[in-house]
Amino acid sequence: MLERTIVCSKNMHLVRPALRTKTMKPYLLKQRLQSTVVSSGRPVRIAIVGSGPAGFYAAARLLSKQQDAIVDMYEKLPVPFGLARYGVAPDHPEVKNCEDKFNEVASSPRFNFIGNVDIGSDLPLAALKPHYDAILFSYGASKDKELGIPGEKALKSVHSARAFVGWYNGLPEHRDLEPDLVSGEDAVIIGQGNVALDVARILLSDVDALRSTDIADHALETLSKSRIKRVRVVGRRGPLQAAFTIKEVRELLQLPSVSFDPISKGLLPPEDIVNGLPRPQKRLMQLLAKGSVNDPQTASKSWSLDFLLSPESLHWSPMHPYHLTHTKFLRNELDPSDPHSPTAKVSPKLLSSGKKAYVNLSSSIFFRSVGYKSLPLPGLEDLGIEFDSQRGLIPNDGFGRVNKKLLDNSLISHLPGLYCAGWVKRGPTGVIASTMTDAFTTADTIIQDLTAAGTSKSLIHAPGQSSGLGWDGVKSEAESCGLRTTSWQDWQRIDALERERGQKNGKVRSKFGRVEEMLDALN
Ligand code: FAD
Ligand code: NAP
Repeated sequence: MLERTIVCSKNMHLVRPALRTKTMKPYLLKQRLQSTVVSSGRPVRIAIVGSGPAGFYAAARLLSKQQDAIVDMYEKLPVPFGLARYGVAPDHPEVKNCEDKFNEVASSPRFNFIGNVDIGSDLPLAALKPHYDAILFSYGASKDKELGIPGEKALKSVHSARAFVGWYNGLPEHRDLEPDLVSGEDAVIIGQGNVALDVARILLSDVDALRSTDIADHALETLSKSRIKRVRVVGRRGPLQAAFTIKEVRELLQLPSVSFDPISKGLLPPEDIVNGLPRPQKRLMQLLAKGSVNDPQTASKSWSLDFLLSPESLHWSPMHPYHLTHTKFLRNELDPSDPHSPTAKVSPKLLSSGKKAYVNLSSSIFFRSVGYKSLPLPGLEDLGIEFDSQRGLIPNDGFGRVNKKLLDNSLISHLPGLYCAGWVKRGPTGVIASTMTDAFTTADTIIQDLTAAGTSKSLIHAPGQSSGLGWDGVKSEAESCGLRTTSWQDWQRIDALERERGQKNGKVRSKFGRVEEMLDALN
């Protein structure tokens, strides 16, 4: 018999003789018996790692199309929904309507939610494998890209948009961020995607407009004291290459008492180019040219889109070493041979002297918003998965099957029974609708593979080798690791308590900001 080493996060190292009959615990005996009597009548057990939109939409499809499937969804937080809860801005409640669909999925008797388990850390992936017929990774992107400039690692006044977004949305990881919004009036955001615009909008919004939303209470408190008056959203390329979309720009342009610095005509593409653009880009360029109707003389705050600037370094006051004063930027110019293409490249702009051109922008707080990043789960390699660190995703065939890397580096075969969906499959871009389409594709692939496997059911294991127990088999291992998992009923209780707490202050909900608070509330 093989020895299996189970490493739990609580620093417990258990070397357990797997399936040894003499000393076998009752649950292991049950597991072994089941694994030898796999019948074609048993359900198909599918594990989903991550309870964001990708996980839920995949579960929805699997449960509706594969009638004998039981889906166990593992989530590292005690509560579900990933970025739908902790990413989508609090003033976009309509986007969170996708949670209605997720609640419907969770009401299926063939669905289990297992929260508060960080797969790969709290519970090794090796603990899942024996009990499932297929594993789907949809664990998103839990880190962000860095710029690699001096000063970026400062402990104060320099933040990733991911941390700031997590902070205002009540994500426990960033509960203690405490952004300094009072030392100065100038915020600089690097990156011109929709996340950057979310950050800008939250900084510029009248705090009273956020009071009734599900924004974290601590964020509301800090934002109510904010002295930030000016927000610059800085891109390294031009308007035509910006990643944001029209709806999000329009929202900022319509914020009451917030003016917009007009974009210099020379930066916007000429009219004949604009007229030839696809409709969404054409409308976006026209909107940028039109700007805002709010009068800068009467507006209390302002914002700008600054183009063709790459951050070089951050600078602090010599008198007050914790006070960020400015960011130094290198000026760029678009490749003159291709300036109107979305893929246009930039190079440093040179002065007539041949030297590079720089500009300083006042900054009392600095955010980088240059994209999220997925990391490999510990233990992926034990399943034969070679995470693509360069692209930040699990290598796959586009339909969701995890690719197997062969010795000669060609990616031509798949790892049976292993799948991925969402941001960890495509990289950290795409809205909830595109994540849904992508998750459906992966679920359809699983169904297709199950159909091809016929009565064998298990896609990971050889016939008869899977315990077929799913969570019932994993549970004892989780308990031996000392884990306190949460169920869907636990989440419903937390949800009800949050709504109750919120109601007292006229809010949609008042989120628990720490994992311990959630678990205490359950006790
Ligand atoms: P996620 O939503 O990140 O879900 C991944 C889940 O996996 C999380 O719950 C995470 O806790 C869990 N997990 C991670 N590691 C583990 C582990 N080891 N074990 C168990 N579980 C784990 N789209 C829109 O359509 N409209 C918007 O307004 C919008 N706003 C956005 C705002 C922000 C700030 C961001 C970043 C994105 C926004 N999006 C929006 C995009 C949308 O959120 C994504 O398309 C979608 O959430 C991606 O889904 P996912 O399931 O792949 O990842
Ligand atoms: P994104 O859309 O990929 O934008 C990233 C931005 O960072 C781009 O402007 C990019 O510019 C810039 N960037 C990257 N590396 C850089 C560097 N080294 N230096 C300077 N700039 C750099 O990513 P995101 O804003 O994180 O959004 C992620 C996804 O979530 C997107 O699909 C977005 O639409 C979605 N989202 C949607 C909403 C919504 O619907 N309301 C809200 C938030 C997020 P280059 O192009 O030059 O690389």
